[in-house]
Amino acid sequence: MSRVTLIGAGPGDPELLTRKAWRLLSLADVVLHDALLDVEGMKEAAPHAQWVYVGKRLGRLSVEQEFICRLIVSYAKQGLNVVRLKGGDPSIFGRMAEEIAACQAAQITVEVVPGITSACAAAAQLQTSLTLRGVSRSVAFVTPRVGKRLTDTDTEWLAVSLAANTVVLYMASAQSQTLGQQLIAGGKSSDTPVCVVENASLEGACLHMTLRELADNALPDLPGPVLLMLGEAFSRANQTHLEERAQLCAIGS
Ligand code: SAH
Repeated sequence: MSRVTLIGAGPGDPELLTRKAWRLLSLADVVLHDALLDVEGMKEAAPHAQWVYVGKRLGRLSVEQEFICRLIVSYAKQGLNVVRLKGGDPSIFGRMAEEIAACQAAQITVEVVPGITSACAAAAQLQTSLTLRGVSRSVAFVTPRVGKRLTDTDTEWLAVSLAANTVVLYMASAQSQTLGQQLIAGGKSSDTPVCVVENASLEGACLHMTLRELADNALPDLPGPVLLMLGEAFSRANQTHLEERAQLCAIGS
């Protein structure tokens, strides 16, 4: 029977695939994959499957979503076990809904396996908690993009980013200065700590700055995918405070 599995591949490091993801990947006849950071490492799970690149990276050659949906359905209709391997978690800016709808319309059974979204991998790498008692009790995963564009008229991302304690901006690095300026103009403190994380979970840049510095300076050219993260949870002071508390706990134990 035709079968499609949408699998979250996690942020890049193949070790961050779940056991379930690895197991179902190993059963695939064909794997349609995104621009994954370590695709060779993931191929170990299904070395005999046919691996087909259908990635979308801004500013690079990319495959249209509609074509990807048609490809998934057409492979499945040939009776193949199809895995659609998507970066991070498929439900976070992953066009999961369109792919499920295409399968359902073709009466193909779909299963979804969640993955680690890049924000969580970046937080782990920074050893920063996205929620932090007394400092942050809301986290927003936001993108300023509407489809392929960044529009001046859409301010929904801004309202959400101003309201949340911790903000993670996906697909935002190309406009980092403009976004920084808009956040300050909207009322976010210019001292807000910012972390820019490239290639989370694998080797990449990790830059610390204030929102004012983000707004005033262009980011260096970073070849990998990038997250802009901001909020008091990223302040060194809060982290030092926690370290002190941890030491006190250790002394007390
Ligand atoms: N579903 C993915 C997000 C897809 S949108 C997830 O859950 O992570 C693509 C954007 O995700 C990129 O533009 C970048 O902002 C972010 N991204 C994906 N992988 C990343 C990584 N390893 N390091 C930093 N940012 C990453």
